[in-house]
Amino acid sequence: MTRKKLDPSVEIVAMARELDTAGLVPNKSGNLSCRTAGGFMITPSGVAYRTLEPEQIVKFDDHGTPAKGGLRPSSEWRMHAAIYACRPDVSAIVHTHSSNATALACAGLGIPAFHYMIALAGGAIRCVPYATFGTAEIAAGAIEGLEGRRAVLLANHGVVTVGASLAAAQAVAVEVENLATQYLALRAAGLEPNVLDDAELARVIEKFADYGRITPGP
Ligand code: 13P
Ligand code: ZN
Repeated sequence: MTRKKLDPSVEIVAMARELDTAGLVPNKSGNLSCRTAGGFMITPSGVAYRTLEPEQIVKFDDHGTPAKGGLRPSSEWRMHAAIYACRPDVSAIVHTHSSNATALACAGLGIPAFHYMIALAGGAIRCVPYATFGTAEIAAGAIEGLEGRRAVLLANHGVVTVGASLAAAQAVAVEVENLATQYLALRAAGLEPNVLDDAELARVIEKFADYGRITPGP
C-alpha cells in the first residue's frame, strides 16, 4: 500500500500544535517553515497555534515574495529565507521560545557537550548575540551560530533548530529544551559538568546516522 504524502501545510500545522501542547512555543511565540519545490512555506504572524489551519500557512516563492492575498507571514521570514539560501542540507526550520533554553540564552549561555544527546544538534550549542526580532541582523546571527550545527540559541530570545524534515527539526527543538533543563539543573546544584570530547561526539554522530530506523533485530 502506498502512503499518501501529507501536504506540507498540514504537517506544519500538526507540528505547531504539538509544540504548543508541549509548552515549547508559549503565547503564540515561535514559527515553523519547510522548504518547497519553488520556495518555502511558513506559519503566519501572531496566530494562536490552536486555531491555526493549513490554509493560513504562507507560501513564499524562490524570490522571497509571499503569495498574494494570504495572511501576514511570520515576522522571522527573513531568517527562515536566509537559512534556506545558505544551507542546502536544511528542509525545515523550527523556532521556539522554550523556557529553559531561553533562560540560558537570556544569560548569553550556550549548551556545552555535557550529554551525548547533544550530537542531535551536531555538537555544543552556541548562543549568538542579541538582535531585534524580525531583522536581517537576527538572521545573520542565526546563520553564524548554526555553522556545522542543527541548533542555536538566540540571546534574550529563544532557539532555532533545523533539519532535513519537519519531524527532524522538531525533534532537535524538543531535545534542546531537554538538554537545557538538565544543564540548568547542574548549574543550579553548583555542579560542573564533565564535557564529552570531540572524538566521542563524532562516534555518537556516526551511530545516530542509522539510529531509530526500523530494522529487524538480531
Ligand atoms: P511571529 O508570530 O511573527 O512568527 O513571531 C513570533 C516570534 O517568535 C518572533 O521571533
Ligand atoms: Zn521568537
